[in-house]
Amino acid sequence: MRKAGIDVISFGAGEPDFDTPLPIKEAAIESIRSGFTKYTPSSGINELKEAVVEKLRRENGLDYSPSQVIISCGAKHSIYNILMAICDPGDEVIIGAPYWVSYPEMVRLAGGNPVIVQTSSQTGYCMIPDDVRKRISSKTKAIILNSPANPTGTVYPEELLREISDLAVEADFYIISDEIYEKLIYDGLKHVSVAALDETFKERTILVNGISKSYAMTGWRIGYAAGPEEVISAMSRIQSHSTSNPTSISQAAALAALRGDQDEVERMRKVFEKRRDLICSKLDEIEGISYVRPQGAFYVFPNVSFYFGKRLNGKIINGSLDFADAMLELANVALVPGMAFGDDGCVRLSFATSEETIEEGLDRIKRALDEVEG
Ligand code: PMP
Repeated sequence: MRKAGIDVISFGAGEPDFDTPLPIKEAAIESIRSGFTKYTPSSGINELKEAVVEKLRRENGLDYSPSQVIISCGAKHSIYNILMAICDPGDEVIIGAPYWVSYPEMVRLAGGNPVIVQTSSQTGYCMIPDDVRKRISSKTKAIILNSPANPTGTVYPEELLREISDLAVEADFYIISDEIYEKLIYDGLKHVSVAALDETFKERTILVNGISKSYAMTGWRIGYAAGPEEVISAMSRIQSHSTSNPTSISQAAALAALRGDQDEVERMRKVFEKRRDLICSKLDEIEGISYVRPQGAFYVFPNVSFYFGKRLNGKIINGSLDFADAMLELANVALVPGMAFGDDGCVRLSFATSEETIEEGLDRIKRALDEVEG
């Protein structure tokens, strides 16, 4: 539609709209100039592993050795390699819905079966221990925790993390803790790393993080995992025989990101918090839309099912895909249907976009929904 000259407003972005901070870019340029352009150890350079170890100690209260850390081509690559390393055919991995779209697909690629725990707005989209317990079987290999979460912005309370992790200890399975949105957390909340809560959790947790979201570096493709040495070592072998090392230049940039001044991260976080407030107040103006106020990440996941069965643009809205289609046609606004995240009653809006775009986009949605019939 944009190619055809239509002014489409997109709330689809899964990445910060900021540029990578200059000192990080300069470190990358310097690495090219100095000839740091060859293969590195396939699980990443030791200096970067050490920077990750320092970061985890300083910010998360976690003690790892560099041999318990792997550098991958993005957090996504780390998660994929974890699942490839731990899943035998038919193994089950518990995932809370709404989920990040790639979790179930990666479990399937690794030969496992995703086992979905449906959550609801009543619990702020947190998995409830009783629901998790019901889904545990002799084949359960892991649970994936994602706090702050995509697509809901949910931040798990510490107590809940403890209760769910107790189940993992009891039934002996891994915890994959995807903490990629760690730095984007609001309302004065503090990020909690599940592995830091108890030594018995740490023994079975593979923590995943990266630089994509915190440092506006999605295109550089650097993520990392830290956990039990045997899992990290298996992941390293998989990485060695598949992708080899993440790009040397990106590793140099990541080192500068982790070791450099962190002020820019906080500046971006504050901007996101302001946008979160704005998008929520604009949603409040729209009839029939309810949502759980996101406390982290840069997404809001409003429930639009009030409009299902009603007519928009001459068509009956039967689900999140129809709703997103109608908004694209009527308002020229792009949303992501919740169906993709395992919740067809909702749509995802990213607020990694300017305040003007949020204002204009939400005004357009409101105007389009004023036209609803039935
Ligand atoms: N986990 C979640 C929950 C995400 O939303 C994303 C990015 N969309 C990733 C992991 C992957 O991030 P990366 O760019 O580091 O691969």
